[in-house]
Amino acid sequence: MRKIIIAGNWKMYKTQSEASEFLMEFIAQIDDAPEDREVVLCVPFTDLAIVSKSLHGNRIRLGAQNVHWEESGAFTGEISASMLTEVGVRYAIVGHSERRQYFGETDETVNLRLKAAQSSGLIPILCVGETKQQRDGGKTEQIIINQLDNGLVGVAQDKLVIAYEPIWAIGTGETCEAGEANRVIGVIRDRLTNPNVTIQYGGSVKPSNINEIMAQPHIDGVLVGGASLAASDFAGIVNYQ
Ligand code: PEP
Repeated sequence: MRKIIIAGNWKMYKTQSEASEFLMEFIAQIDDAPEDREVVLCVPFTDLAIVSKSLHGNRIRLGAQNVHWEESGAFTGEISASMLTEVGVRYAIVGHSERRQYFGETDETVNLRLKAAQSSGLIPILCVGETKQQRDGGKTEQIIINQLDNGLVGVAQDKLVIAYEPIWAIGTGETCEAGEANRVIGVIRDRLTNPNVTIQYGGSVKPSNINEIMAQPHIDGVLVGGASLAASDFAGIVNYQ
């Protein structure tokens, strides 16, 4: 059975007070959301503890935006899986295209992060996706298959979420057409050995396009950047029909 997961990625936005303000508004607006979907908020490290406290007893799950492969050590600026689980984190985004593009993340480091997350009980959300140039060059499938094959070596597929995020659709307002996102996610599904992996779509998801996206048979949820920052927008996405 594939779980539906609606996840927000706040990126480097929101101080603790802004996070608390968001939650007060947001929680009230998702009271009546159907039980069939899990809601995850992947917040900056400084917000984790405060959001974790406000979520106590709530249906929202806490997520981080990265996790290092070592348990501890001289890795300035990084964070370990046990530091995350101790404050109540359940999910961690791994291999987001912004990490790959700006911080030198490779399929090899993605693989290390995925394994470390799983061995501490975190569920990683592995992001894969192609650039516009790769898509225009007819390389979409090959790029994604490479990211999966290299990233998933030794990774358990029963504790894993994948997000298909075409890079050209992230933060651009240009959504991948729902049928095309469904097709690529079908390619991803065919490459996996476990048929129950939740596979999300990410890239300019908004309240106005969520129904069409979630109507696609292969799409099990969404990873939302910009539209997860405003409580009413993200609630509109969570409350999709
Ligand atoms: C993201 O950051 O993963 C993302 C999909 O961003 P946006 O929704 O803003 O395109």
